[in-house]
Amino acid sequence: MVYQFQLFESDNLHLPSPIEGESLYSWCIRFHRLSTNTKAKQTIRQLFGHATTGARHDFPTRLGHFSTTTQFLLGTIEELIYERTVFSIFAPFLTQDAVDDVIRNMRDGQYSRIAYRIGLRGIPTFTVAPLKACAICINEDRVLHGSTYWHIEHQFPTSLTCTKHGSSLLVATQIFHAEIQHWNLPSDIPLSGWMNYRKPDAREIILLNKLSEWSLWVSRIADRNFEEGVLRRTYLLRAKSMGWTHSDGKIDFERIRVAFRKKYANLEPVPGFSFVKDTWFAHGGFLGEILLSIGNNKHPLRNLLVMDFLFDSHQTFLSEYDRVCDALAQDKLGNLWSDLVDSTSLLKMLVSDAGFTVNTAAQKLHIPVQSAIRRLRRDGVAFQQNRRIALPTEEAMTSFLLDGDSLDEIALKLQIKKHQIISYLTKHPDLQISWRQAVQKKEIEKHRSMFLQFLSDNPNIQERNVRRTPESGFRWLKENDIDWLHGHLPGIWNQR
Ligand SMILES: [Zn+2]
Repeated sequence: MVYQFQLFESDNLHLPSPIEGESLYSWCIRFHRLSTNTKAKQTIRQLFGHATTGARHDFPTRLGHFSTTTQFLLGTIEELIYERTVFSIFAPFLTQDAVDDVIRNMRDGQYSRIAYRIGLRGIPTFTVAPLKACAICINEDRVLHGSTYWHIEHQFPTSLTCTKHGSSLLVATQIFHAEIQHWNLPSDIPLSGWMNYRKPDAREIILLNKLSEWSLWVSRIADRNFEEGVLRRTYLLRAKSMGWTHSDGKIDFERIRVAFRKKYANLEPVPGFSFVKDTWFAHGGFLGEILLSIGNNKHPLRNLLVMDFLFDSHQTFLSEYDRVCDALAQDKLGNLWSDLVDSTSLLKMLVSDAGFTVNTAAQKLHIPVQSAIRRLRRDGVAFQQNRRIALPTEEAMTSFLLDGDSLDEIALKLQIKKHQIISYLTKHPDLQISWRQAVQKKEIEKHRSMFLQFLSDNPNIQERNVRRTPESGFRWLKENDIDWLHGHLPGIWNQR
């Protein structure tokens, strides 16, 4: 609260006006430069009420504190989230529950929960949305605004070109992201801070530009929820109208897959598009996941690729989607799924070609395991089964994992085998990342309280002995939480 008043009562501090299309992260950097703070950490604490969390460039948290401190200069919390972070590109593909939960956690919660809800993949120090900038915009912004800034539309993981200039975007390196606390604007980044990837050729630029335009369009209707089942039916009906069917009217997935590869296979080497390689397999990788209901794939980039592949304009897609929505509401589409898709041949493909166990294949296709087993036996297809964790146990296990409990603790609590949890985590990489982050957070909390307890139990201890005593937790904190340690015991660094 103290900071809140400081921000407005000091003559030295001015809140810069946000630039249209500027990310929240970018505004914070410009604010920092106008403030009298010497370290970014001071500014982060001032704005977010905490020195180490909040100011992320992709999904900032503690926005409740931020909004109060800045007296809603940048808008309501929802406006901040939808207009100045990358959330608007993810939101339309999430369930309402997930959207509400992400907003709750961005207001006052944890990044790991957001990452889990959104299905972010990547190591914790990196990001699903690396910082990007357009070289031509950098020059223009210097003249127009007197400063460069991070454009929110360039930060979408689905955009690799600038829609204004049609040029490919510069992408900051992974090493640069590890040093993100230095707070740079695009013009501050040296050449070595940008990824040195092969520049897309003219044909690739055309494809990437279309994706950037889809991204911009989706981000502007971010309050829409594209429901997964309706999306899939919209895609399938469109594929049917393109003539990609067998003679019995059922979808001919092989023809769809080949047509897709013909158009997009050359995007494989572009950063962020390596998943396109999986469309080489008969199951079609993400294309099968989205069109054939083989599991869930809600990543906006995957969906935008399918939209761009099937529809020639945003409007055609939207009116088709709304038409399917209405028809489903009025029960006019009949049993569309089984009319269009032969789930038994899909099941056989997953089990014999893609090597899935019958349980995994059945789960991906949303059919009961017993029914899958019957179908495979009837057609003489060899299969493997795995022991599946029961649903109530699965939910409890997920909750314990998100709380950062150890595998031994969870196995004991739920009376299951540790290797079952490990195998579950292997199949759910997003959960695995969130679990690791939660474990790290728990460890940090444990060592911080151990350290503070040690200091209060030994009020007269010399600081050099704090460093030497293993029970103080000093050594662990020095390796893992050095900023906090600096803040809590500044004098200790002068000791020998
Ligand atoms: Zn540009």
